[in-house]
Amino acid sequence: MQISQIPIINYHKISPSFDIGITTRHPRQFENDLEILKSYKFNTITFRDITNDDSEISNPIIITFDDAYETIKTYALPIMQSFGYKGVIYPVTNFIGRYNDWDVQIGKFKFKHLDWKELKDIQEIGFEIGSHTQSHELLTQMSYERQFRELSQSKSALEDALGKEVCSVSYPFGRFNQETIQCAEKAGYKYGLASLYFKHIEENNRVYTLKRFNIYRFDTGNQFKMKIGIKNSQYIYYRDWLMQKGGLGTALLQSLRKRMNPNGIIKINP
Ligand SMILES: [Zn+2]
Repeated sequence: MQISQIPIINYHKISPSFDIGITTRHPRQFENDLEILKSYKFNTITFRDITNDDSEISNPIIITFDDAYETIKTYALPIMQSFGYKGVIYPVTNFIGRYNDWDVQIGKFKFKHLDWKELKDIQEIGFEIGSHTQSHELLTQMSYERQFRELSQSKSALEDALGKEVCSVSYPFGRFNQETIQCAEKAGYKYGLASLYFKHIEENNRVYTLKRFNIYRFDTGNQFKMKIGIKNSQYIYYRDWLMQKGGLGTALLQSLRKRMNPNGIIKINP
């Protein structure tokens, strides 16, 4: 099967606690999602399975987790393991074991990222670790040199600490340009994960512009089925495309914050 035909879905936090953002999925919803995958006989694979194994895996799907929050270990992992599923986790290397200070903080809400040991333990049980860059800043606003540093140094930091090849990179906010593709290839990645919609697609660069559906808090079971390709996904594609345009607001606030107050955090009243 062609890699571009394999459905890839993405989660952020899996948690029962309240969060202002839309990317947190409740553990019960997450379990329902996996029940749906099971009922349609999906097999979870990671990028390494594609690289190392030519044999055909029936009904493959890739489950990814951007930002590598601690909630993966607390809530997602036990559920994944009860289904015998595995996935790919994308830490931001400058924030491993720290709080999400890279993000725009709304009120007092802060979330912790998995630390190095936890990432290694999760890798040991069959999950794969990819890169989500060093800083989580928009790659498209960086020079070629800085983009290359973000991609190559995050890759080598993960490989040095975890002892395994890092074969995929998830671009922050799903955004990239032609230089990002060149940098990803030059840094030695085999796959790059983008958002749903982008202008710079070229046939031979497909592996560096793979599309993913984010799974949001308010996605229903039916909408989840659209995202894994069981139901016609035209509607959900355009809805999520609009949502991701909104998500860019975070990226813009982030760069504004940096310009105004390089060491601080902008507090926004909810
Ligand atoms: Zn992210």
